[in-house]
Amino acid sequence: AKQNGRNTYRHYEPAMGEQAMRLLLLQQGLQEALTHDTLTLHFQPKFDGATQRLTGAEALIRWNHPTLGIVPPSEFIPISERSGQIIEIGYWVVRHVCRQLREWERQGMPDLVIAVNLSPKQLAHPDIVEGMHAITREAGISPRRIIFEITESVAMDNARMTGEVIRAFHRVGFEVAIDDFGTGYSSLAYLQQFRVQQLKIDRFFTNGLDTHGEEGEAIVSAIVALAHSLKMQVVAEGVETESQMRKLRDLSCDQVQGYLLARPLPSDEFERFVRAQQQQ
Ligand code: C2E
Ligand code: CA
Ligand code: CA
Ligand code: CA
Repeated sequence: AKQNGRNTYRHYEPAMGEQAMRLLLLQQGLQEALTHDTLTLHFQPKFDGATQRLTGAEALIRWNHPTLGIVPPSEFIPISERSGQIIEIGYWVVRHVCRQLREWERQGMPDLVIAVNLSPKQLAHPDIVEGMHAITREAGISPRRIIFEITESVAMDNARMTGEVIRAFHRVGFEVAIDDFGTGYSSLAYLQQFRVQQLKIDRFFTNGLDTHGEEGEAIVSAIVALAHSLKMQVVAEGVETESQMRKLRDLSCDQVQGYLLARPLPSDEFERFVRAQQQQ
């Protein structure tokens, strides 16, 4: 057993070391990325479900680490949540979105609404609403140009606090969407406390339109009916096939987003994309 233990130890330790090292590198790297402004945003177009006209975009953060290369947000956002760096990152994102909106205004691009993701720590941060409002005010951007996406699981963790933050966002003019709707396990009844503007159907259900036949359609149809009866818009994310697109149109889904229509694009490519759309 002792022999075994030593073997286990020898196999285990280097792997742990590598993981810990990567974590450390990422945390330090994030601090440098923030001070040297080397994070970037991509913009994934969103479209009207019936007409397929462009309605806006979702801002998605990107990080190219000097030695580790591209680090996906699914890896570094949770790390920044734990370290607290997410607060600073979140403000950076909105400052950057505002700067971009000013630039697009100058270029004569149409007035698009930009969706910005907020994670749990950000939502629980006491100054979040005032902080975001101050950024848009300084940049001269109307809060109506930004919709904050919060995930259902987060929203339901502390319903009273979430309700207060959402109302505060609304008071200053921001809109709010519930992201990844249907994947959390909390009560639908909470929805009546949150008067949000959009429900984003999780990619899992969009995919189910192709893979789960009538049941898949019944679920999306029920989410749309629920949202509409509460005067919310429905956005389907992760649309990858023509048949999903067709079904979503038939089910009166308000907006669609996904690789079939457009991938997240760097700002210059996004500008070209918008111009090409305008010429159609
Ligand atoms: P999310 O908010 O659910 O964003 C949707 C993710 O799905 C994005 O991944 C997007 O690139 C991807 N996606 C879009 N269309 C399709 C499709 O048709 N098929 C498939 N398979 N995927 C599609 P991404 O950019 O890697 O972001 C992952 C997550 O990281 C986001 O999930 C969000 O939770 C978080 N995140 C990204 N940017 C930010 C940010 O600025 N702030 C915060 N707090 N979180 C962010
Ligand atoms: Ca999102
Ligand atoms: Ca989502
Ligand atoms: Ca998600």
